[in-house]
Amino acid sequence: MNVKFNKVKILSIFLLIFLASCARAPVYKTVPPSKRVDYPKAPPVMRKDLVHTVGPGETVWRIAKMYDVDSKIVVRKNKIKDSKKIEMGQKLLVPKAAPIRPVVTLYPTDKWKYIIIHHSATDIGNALAFDRYHNLRGFTRGLGYHFVIDNGTKGKFDGQIEVSPRWLKKQDGAHCRAGGMNPKAIGICLVGNFNSGKITEKQMDSLVYLVNRLRKYYNIPKSKILGHGQVKSARTDCPGKEFPWSQFWSLLSKNK
Ligand SMILES: [Zn+2]
Repeated sequence: MNVKFNKVKILSIFLLIFLASCARAPVYKTVPPSKRVDYPKAPPVMRKDLVHTVGPGETVWRIAKMYDVDSKIVVRKNKIKDSKKIEMGQKLLVPKAAPIRPVVTLYPTDKWKYIIIHHSATDIGNALAFDRYHNLRGFTRGLGYHFVIDNGTKGKFDGQIEVSPRWLKKQDGAHCRAGGMNPKAIGICLVGNFNSGKITEKQMDSLVYLVNRLRKYYNIPKSKILGHGQVKSARTDCPGKEFPWSQFWSLLSKNK
């Protein structure tokens, strides 16, 4: 039935598609078909309820963003009266949390000239534990690093990037006195002891991601990305004799 009608219908659909594509013509001009890439579809997000221990400098907004949830839901579920007054070490239920993702805020400044990589020289740890330790050592602003990359111990995920209050407040570090580095170097600490143990794959991925973001944004050349022990006059083997430098440099260039 109605073969002609169907033909007309199909023709008019083609015409509509043609007209619609004309309207989007500039897009095709700037992206030639040969250069278009088909990205694989993202895997379905596996969400689950979890308990998050509040780390140094973390806010409800930041935690909600880390797990891709609405901050209002976190406030309601945890009966938080004043969302500005959550405390370090407090446990919060995060309903239907997505896999954790880094929330690294970058801000314009010409302060940062170097990136210095450390290991914690401990098998376990997290930003909260180091903050307490640094406070005990008399660091007036607590946690001396700008970032901590966890190894899956002390309730944190393997490869999780914790952002220190010093980073958020644009403050000098307290991680490398040698070479007068503290006011000009971003300090990243990997949890682990790389004299005897190994950096995990996820920690390396996170380190490469973080260093690449920072060096591009602040225009830091590779020659100014150093291990703590590579700083002149620093008497330490930090980040450990076994830190895989060649793997780090090759991944850094590959994942630009
Ligand atoms: Zn160090």
